[in-house]
Amino acid sequence: MTQVTTRPLIDGFSRQITYVRLSVTDRCDLRCAYCMPERMQFLPKAEVLSLEELHRLALAFIERGVRKIRLTGGEPLVRRDLMTLVARLGREIGNGLDELTLTTNGTQLAQHATALADAGVRRINVSLDTLQPELFARLTRRDALAQVLDGIDAADRAGLQVKINAVALKGLNEDELPDLIAWAHGRGHDVTLIEVMPLGEVEEDRFDHYLPLTQVREQLEQGWTLTESGHKTGGPARYVDVAQTGGRLGFITPLTNNFCAGCNRVRVTATGQIYMCLGQNDRVDLRAAMRGDDSEAALDAALDRAIRRKPERHDFHIDAPGAAPALSRHMSMTGG
Ligand code: SAM
Ligand code: SF4
Repeated sequence: MTQVTTRPLIDGFSRQITYVRLSVTDRCDLRCAYCMPERMQFLPKAEVLSLEELHRLALAFIERGVRKIRLTGGEPLVRRDLMTLVARLGREIGNGLDELTLTTNGTQLAQHATALADAGVRRINVSLDTLQPELFARLTRRDALAQVLDGIDAADRAGLQVKINAVALKGLNEDELPDLIAWAHGRGHDVTLIEVMPLGEVEEDRFDHYLPLTQVREQLEQGWTLTESGHKTGGPARYVDVAQTGGRLGFITPLTNNFCAGCNRVRVTATGQIYMCLGQNDRVDLRAAMRGDDSEAALDAALDRAIRRKPERHDFHIDAPGAAPALSRHMSMTGG
């Protein structure tokens, strides 16, 4: 029986928070150049929430009406013993939680696909920006394309529905996008394209590779017929159906088209900091509440405090070459 909370998390703009993206680690086995620097400084382990704390936190959100949890990172599948958390959270599906899912780079998916499916995970997002081994190695600074493709095959065999997420990058995967989309659609995977966002210092200037999706869409429309689709996943993507491939294509356009009005989500870092908006710096420390006195009541009160402060919208922009990132934290802290 699905529970209905009597104390939903509703922000100052009447938006109910039903979706939490929970980062389980800041660590990663890849170093995507747009996401983090080669010598990324990871956090000391003591600062990161234990699996027990992550479980408690997730239950507190479910208690307050959250129905969808996405595990992310860093790379969630590099967190040791993650599957014990996945199995425990899987037991909440149908008991307040509608969906447990995750976003992964796919490198460790071959080992974990069956356990994910057994725990009740039905759909996952796999990030993949290119099918060319050399470009993959350049983008991620690791030679791991074959491992990712094995992971996607294993997910298929385990019966997981896979959506491919690709960041559109000018002069890098720009020309390959139609092939990547056709490949994914041919295997029955939806695809979502993402604009690169100005989060955290990296070595390169993201402006050099920023590719507005309005432009990608115009280019795709020269060869394909795109029809608006009513498909919704509870995320910010807007979908079209592609007549020629028979597949679905989503666009996440934080920069060219603000999507904040329908925002139903918050993000929690692996250290228990809740960010009410991906594009703003305001946060509330849930870990301090959880590790202090009377922690259950303190956590509940911290959730209220956070949601009251959720801003109306983000204000990202990538305006100019050489501009400093809009926010100093990396995407790997909040997991996208
Ligand atoms: N490691 C996992 C993965 O790559 O799927 C989960 C975390 S990763 C931070 C989540 C998503 O954020 C990935 O799809 C990645 O491509 C995207 N991402 C990372 N940095 C980004 C940036 N600066 N702008 C836009 N997307 C970014
Ligand atoms: Fe790792 Fe994901 Fe960031 Fe790539 S995008 S470096 S896989 S956290």
